[in-house]
Amino acid sequence: MFSYGKINHSQSIRFFLIVLLTGCYAGCAYINPFIENIDMVSLSQEKQLSQQISTEVSKTKTIVNDPAKVDLVRRIGNRLVAALPRKDFDYQFYVVSDNTPNAFTIPGGIVYVHTGLLDFVDDESELAGVIGHEIGHAYDRHPTKTLTRAYGVTYLTNLLFKNDPNQFRKITLQLAAGGILTKYSRDEEREADDIGFYLLKKAGYPSDGLLRFFRKLDRAAGKQTIPAFLSDHPATQERIARLEALEKNPVPAG
Ligand code: ZN
Repeated sequence: MFSYGKINHSQSIRFFLIVLLTGCYAGCAYINPFIENIDMVSLSQEKQLSQQISTEVSKTKTIVNDPAKVDLVRRIGNRLVAALPRKDFDYQFYVVSDNTPNAFTIPGGIVYVHTGLLDFVDDESELAGVIGHEIGHAYDRHPTKTLTRAYGVTYLTNLLFKNDPNQFRKITLQLAAGGILTKYSRDEEREADDIGFYLLKKAGYPSDGLLRFFRKLDRAAGKQTIPAFLSDHPATQERIARLEALEKNPVPAG
């Protein structure tokens, strides 16, 4: 059950954001979380990888078909994707049965939201914050960068050439077990947090959705096992402080 957050339609804030976001996309690469990547598999190869891995995810995870859950996640996801400055992928959103308040992203812009996350959040903007964070990973191609770090470009391109289902299955099992996709770097997590923050703003959500999610997760951490989403660097409190600073002054420090 979700109580939906209020949407801020203030024209002045909108104008400010248009100026801010347009300015950053146009020329502020050094402070821009929407960065480009080099030295990795091509976009078309990433899309091939995506197809193979998503097929394996559907075999190794329980995909939830409850229309209330799926429609909510897709509506939020599509609203956030509409705010992206560039769409390299046909972004897709699925719900998987898992009690932990988490989400993960595979190459090619496919985001999987755990049922435990739907239960954990208090309102739509918190969920949108996490989905925006995951879209940020996809946008900056972090899943493919991580796979490239783990396996190397040559291995991945050979894998696509040979199209060996057993190897794709092996990779997917590691992805599903959180063995690879939780190995994002600190900078990649910060980039994804920044993109999550800006997508909330640009899509018209309360911009503190991701911040409130992290605060709640931080409070919950004392009572339960810390989910993988949080167990990585940087520490939750550092991420909270960073988002609080963005909330007060949404101009990234150069
Ligand atoms: Zn992340």
